[in-house]
Amino acid sequence: MAQVLNGIEIAAEIKAEVAEEVRALTAAGVTPGLTVVLVGHMAASEIYVRSKVKASGELGIKSEMLTPAESVTTEEMLALIAELNAREDVDGILIQLPLPKHVDTRRLLEAVDPSKDVDGFHPVNAGRLQSGQPGLRPCTPAGIMEILRRSGLPVAGKHAVVLGRSDIVGKPVAMMLLNESATVTVCHSKTVDIARFTRDADILVAAIGKPGFVTAEMVKPGATLIDVGINRITDAADVARFFPGDVERSAQFEKRGSTLVGDIDPAAFARSGAYTPVPGGVGALTIAMLMHNTVQAAKARRVSPTSLRDAGHPAAAGRA
Ligand code: NAP
Repeated sequence: MAQVLNGIEIAAEIKAEVAEEVRALTAAGVTPGLTVVLVGHMAASEIYVRSKVKASGELGIKSEMLTPAESVTTEEMLALIAELNAREDVDGILIQLPLPKHVDTRRLLEAVDPSKDVDGFHPVNAGRLQSGQPGLRPCTPAGIMEILRRSGLPVAGKHAVVLGRSDIVGKPVAMMLLNESATVTVCHSKTVDIARFTRDADILVAAIGKPGFVTAEMVKPGATLIDVGINRITDAADVARFFPGDVERSAQFEKRGSTLVGDIDPAAFARSGAYTPVPGGVGALTIAMLMHNTVQAAKARRVSPTSLRDAGHPAAAGRA
């Protein structure tokens, strides 16, 4: 019987730890602060940002949301970021992506002070990850490492195969797995015969954004399957194909007209040793890790320069 890696439970555990740290910091006069910048009115982004602000409030993190108009220029955004970089009460700066096309996203992300870069996207933090130094780690990959660690699934010596090489998931998670002594293979859209790699994976991380791409035949029996993909399917035939006989899913689809499936065909889960479901797996961890990063950023900047290392948390110690 495959073990279900319950992201909701693990996220709740991390959030409880973060809330405890926030209480201690606040009692010492340092209330961690997160500023989320949301440009324009993209519905999906508004939902994400609202959940980040809500989670902050629940954990005692002071949060604010800034909402520049869709027409904002790169220069105006740079001025805003400079202001946030200079503010003592702002520990984390999160620029919600995607930004409008006329704005230079890369320039903005690089303008964020690396010590406040709670998304872990700044090249300085990417470099720190690569060289195994403490630093702020991208949230989704850090969440994946927490799932493995807290579920007692060993990484050292395992063959980890990562599907996808994006800067926000594929590359950083590959580096984190390597830092934990896995042997890592990274596949992408130009990889020839992906199945020959996936079939050899002890740990398979799928982050490509293609519904049910990894089929049961592509999986090694007993492997750990980490499904990062979040794909909304709206075709009844796809629901029947991915979730045959699943009454709950069918009812959900009837009600909402859509349901979510990952990059791994759920039929493959039965062959695995452990897997993250979609929803309720990796996706649940991302906000928890953002909260964790905000507290680590506050400690590192406002408590003492060695706090990240002293925190004893793997995400801070270069191991997640
Ligand atoms: P992305 O930036 O679009 O990157 C997709 C990657 O997949 C690329 O490296 C691409 O290869 C590769 N790819 C695409 N088609 C492929 C194929 N047929 N075979 C092999 N590789 C293929 O996506 P992302 O931002 O990393 O996100 C990936 C998925 O994770 C999406 O479903 C997204 O919604 C989800 N996601 C979830 C979370 C969360 O749980 N919180 C966070 C982020 C993303 P090339 O580089 O060669 O183009």
